Amino acid sequence: STPSTPAPVEAEVVEVGAGRPEDVSRVAARLRGAIVLATPSGATLDEVIYNFYRTPALANELKAAGAAALLIASDKQNTMLYTAPVDFNTSGRLAPLPSLNIAREDVGLLQRLAAGRQKPRVRLDVQNKIGGAFESTNVIGEIVGRERPDEIIVVGAHLDSNDLGPGALDNAAGSGAVMEAARAIKALGLQPRRTIRFVLFMGEEEGMLGSLAYVRRHQDEMDRTVAAIIMDVGAGRPLGWFSMGRTDLDEQLRELMKPLAHLGVSVIEHAAFAATDNAPFMAEGVPNLILLQDESSYFPVHHTIADTTDKVVPRDYAAAVATVTATAYAIADQANRFGRRMTAAEVKKMAAETKVDEQWRAAGIWK
Ligand SMILES: [Zn+2]
Repeated sequence: STPSTPAPVEAEVVEVGAGRPEDVSRVAARLRGAIVLATPSGATLDEVIYNFYRTPALANELKAAGAAALLIASDKQNTMLYTAPVDFNTSGRLAPLPSLNIAREDVGLLQRLAAGRQKPRVRLDVQNKIGGAFESTNVIGEIVGRERPDEIIVVGAHLDSNDLGPGALDNAAGSGAVMEAARAIKALGLQPRRTIRFVLFMGEEEGMLGSLAYVRRHQDEMDRTVAAIIMDVGAGRPLGWFSMGRTDLDEQLRELMKPLAHLGVSVIEHAAFAATDNAPFMAEGVPNLILLQDESSYFPVHHTIADTTDKVVPRDYAAAVATVTATAYAIADQANRFGRRMTAAEVKKMAAETKVDEQWRAAGIWK
């Protein structure tokens, strides 16, 4: 959350490009007292994740340089605003300096004025009221396994959303998929060999708080948690799976995708990142998958007022839900256990190689 301005503040606008460290040093001499405009791009998952972890550091660097406030350009269309946390914490700590999102059209106006050799000035009067910390709960249900009930497949998505939009794609779509998976398996009268646990996590948008709390609370189950299957890329058609830095699951994943080939499910993406509720499981070495989906309908509305149900294409969404459901059931019911838990040393090596360790530290998953 942004702090308020103690009194209205008016200052010259200084552009800091995309807000990368080198951008900040380039204009360092002009930052004192300035209202700083950053224009990061958030068109792809990689960029969104970069911004997610870069913004807290950017705000701290600007504060240290004496800047008065930070304006973060929305990369969405026209006057649509975007929201994301400037800082992760559970203590109610505010961002280091007043930080606001500014629509693309307003950014364009400021940039045209600056290009015309005028020095645009902005006046800010930020009055933000925040409530105190409160307790929230994950919602959990399960279908107990018939042969190995102590082995658990977690199927999860986050129930919370960001405050600008209703969160239809981020992440009612994932939450709906989790509930539909439970309903469909139950309605078919199926009882898999292992237990499937359906989890709606809270507090994901503030830094994966619900999944982090789950993994801490269920620490003694991590050896027998077979996999965590997470959905959090909207309602687009399914393409395959993010395997989160692991290549040892490829053969089994290809086998699992075979019956789903007619839906277009065929891709394994090995990238590892800590951006949703799989991350605490990844840090435990538990096989963790995120459904890889067509993102083209997702990022244009991600964390905006336009994240509404009309963006859902029913057939694409149904295919995504079917993929999650069939895969969770297959992993729970197959004779041989899916994958294995990585050792702490293997997790450390993978995290260093993929640089996901820096993200885990920033998010408090790793101390
Ligand atoms: Zn999400």
